[in-house]
Formats: sequence, structure tokens, C-alpha cells
Amino acid sequence: MASVPLVDLAAAHAEVAEEVEAGFARVIAGTAFVGGAEVAAFEQEYARFSRVRHCVGVANGTDALELALRAVGVGPGSEVILPANTFIATAEAVARAGARPVLVDCDPHTHLIDVDAALAAVTPATRAVVPVHLYGQLAPMERLWAGLTGSGIAVVEDAAQCQGATRHGQAAGVGGIAATSFYPGKNLGAYGDAGAVVTDDAALATAVRTLGSHGGLTKYVHDVIGMNSRLDALQAVVLRAKLARLADGNDRRRAAAARYDALLADAEVIRPVTLPGSVHVWHIYCVRIPGGPARRDRVLAELNDAGIGAGVHYPVPVHLTGAFAGLGYAPGAFPHTERAAGELLSLPIHPQLTAAQQETVVEALTTALARSAGAAPAAVAAPRRSPARLPVGSQG
Ligand SMILES: *Cc1c(COP(=O)(O)O)cnc(C)c1O
Repeated sequence: MASVPLVDLAAAHAEVAEEVEAGFARVIAGTAFVGGAEVAAFEQEYARFSRVRHCVGVANGTDALELALRAVGVGPGSEVILPANTFIATAEAVARAGARPVLVDCDPHTHLIDVDAALAAVTPATRAVVPVHLYGQLAPMERLWAGLTGSGIAVVEDAAQCQGATRHGQAAGVGGIAATSFYPGKNLGAYGDAGAVVTDDAALATAVRTLGSHGGLTKYVHDVIGMNSRLDALQAVVLRAKLARLADGNDRRRAAAARYDALLADAEVIRPVTLPGSVHVWHIYCVRIPGGPARRDRVLAELNDAGIGAGVHYPVPVHLTGAFAGLGYAPGAFPHTERAAGELLSLPIHPQLTAAQQETVVEALTTALARSAGAAPAAVAAPRRSPARLPVGSQG
């Protein structure tokens, strides 16, 4: 049985192993473990890559969002608008900044924030909107910017999944502020937790750096109550080595997505869509399985049983988590998000994925779909035959 992992961090390491080892030796010899020259060099390189003026390395993506929100003035009494279809961290950052998360539904085709719903949710208390560039493509930012013109409402982009993506030629953070994550599985991944804030605005960059360094940039001068959220030099070594290969990795992801599109042309799934004007970086390739959660979960289980690292992004919308039940949204509040949560299925995608592995994935998916066609809901389903094992294709 050839297993196909959702991401392959060992294969990714092999490509940078020598540089990482040399860099680690350099940092250990110099003993500048937090901040320092490696971090400063990475910040410059990532700013250039992101086509923005400033990059501030921080401890993780959730902190990056919180720091960016606080830098634009979000705090107690603020409302912040964000999509219900996102990773929990987006909402956590809003709550940790002291603000109230105001959730909105997603577009049923792209699964990105519904910009019209976001604009309709604005109240006098709204201080920021957080579009989440989910799965590797930017939300339709031109419509959000246009709708917020003159409002004084900040846009804080959640760019954790879109490193290298553009919308009409612009990357996240251009003209505003964006937060990203270098969690190991992201397109640009560290060997532990790491994140960054990017912006063109020097004052915002300084505010983020100050808040993340105990509220002051001079030792023992603390002007505001900050926190400790900085980038470690060892992580900067890894990130510099991987950043040099990120554009190539994103090209390989695009080629893999195109191959899935072709292999799935006749399959009974809804394939992901890319907005015209967007360059997608395919952090996640997710299809929709028609038929609802029982069928999706059954297909997912069969793929996992066959050694295929499929997943769901995300199975529980923010408003239906225990953590955010207190916001008071009832089931049914965000129908497109809730329906998508029961149908989405993410297939393995990463730069090291081979064509043979993709064929294995699609073969297993097609078999699982056929087996579950017209399936009754799980609770009343007929006893399942033990799944016939597919002969898995050639070695990848
Ligand atoms: C990964 C992720 C985050 C949080 O990043 P961490 O580094 O894990 O804190 C936030 N938002 C989205 C959309 C993410 O995918």
C-alpha cells in the first residue's frame, strides 16, 4: 500500500538540509538566538518577496494576527468582522485583542469571505475586517477596499495560507497590513512555530515590533503593555533556506493542482475555483463531495484507510465551536459555511507530490465515491462491505 501524506516535511527538509545545518552551526557559534542578524536578513528577504516595505518576524501566526489587530487600534469595545469559514486562530486573535468577533458567511464557490456580507455587517463599533485568504488565494480585496473607502475601518489580512499569492498583481499586506504563519505545514514552513506581520506602513511595523517586544524597543523602557512574540534565529535560518525555493515550490503546487483538475474532470466532485485575476498558491486543494457530511466522512475514512492523508478544512465553523458558542450564533446562521463544512475534502498537495501519487489519490477517491453513491445517512447505512483494496499504482 503506497501511502500519500497530506504534506511531506521530510522530503521538503531533504532539499534544504545542507543550508539548514550550516545555518544552525552559524547561529550556535554566534549565540544570538532571539532576533539578531539572521532574523533581520529574513525579514528583509520576506518583505522583498511579499512586495511590501516592512516585515516583522514574530512567534507564530496567531500572535501575528493579534499584534496586527492591536497595531491598527483594535481593542476592548471594538467589533472585528471575519469569516465563519476559517481556522479557529483568526477568531482567537480577535478575542485576545479584546474585541468582539462578528462572523459572516462565505462565498459558496470560493469559500472565501462573502464581501457583501462583510460590508453589511459594519456598525459604528467596527474597527477592522479580517479577510482570510483561505487555501492559497486572496479574497476579492478590490471589492473590500472599495466598500470600506472613507470608513476609517482597517483591513487586517489573514495571509497564513497564501505566501506568494497575488490578486491583480498585489500580494497581501500591500496598502495595509497582513499577518502570516510559518507553521511547519504552511507553504513557507519553519521547524516549529513562527510568523510575521507585513505592511507598507512604517508606523504600523514599529507598533507591531514594540508590542511584540514587551511594549518597548529599548531595553527596560516599556511604553505599553506588550507581550513576548519574537522570531528565533534558528527558525530564521530554516525560513531563509526555504524562502529561496518558495516560488519554485508554488509553481510545483500549481502544476499539481492542474493535474488534479484534469484527473478529476469526470469525477463526481466539485473542483476548487480560482477567481479571475488571482494567482493561487494551493496551500490546500479541496473538493466538495455532494451528498453531505455522512458521505463525505465515509469517503474521508476510506481514503485515510488506504493511507491517503486527506483532511477537512474546516469541519466545524467558528460559531459552532465550544470556544465561540458565547457569541450567540445559532446553527443555520451561516448556511454556505455550514454546508461547505459537511462537504469539503482536502487532497494531499505539496511541492514534492508526484504524478503517480496523484493518480493513486484520484483512483482511491473515485472508488470511494462509487462505493458511497446514493448512500443513506451513516446512522441507517447498510453494513459496509470490507473495502476492496485497490492495486495502487507505480512507485512515485
Ligand atoms: C495556520 C493559520 C493561522 C495561525 O497560525 P499559527 O502559526 O498556527 O498560530 C491563522 N489563520 C489561518 C487561516 C491559518 O491557516
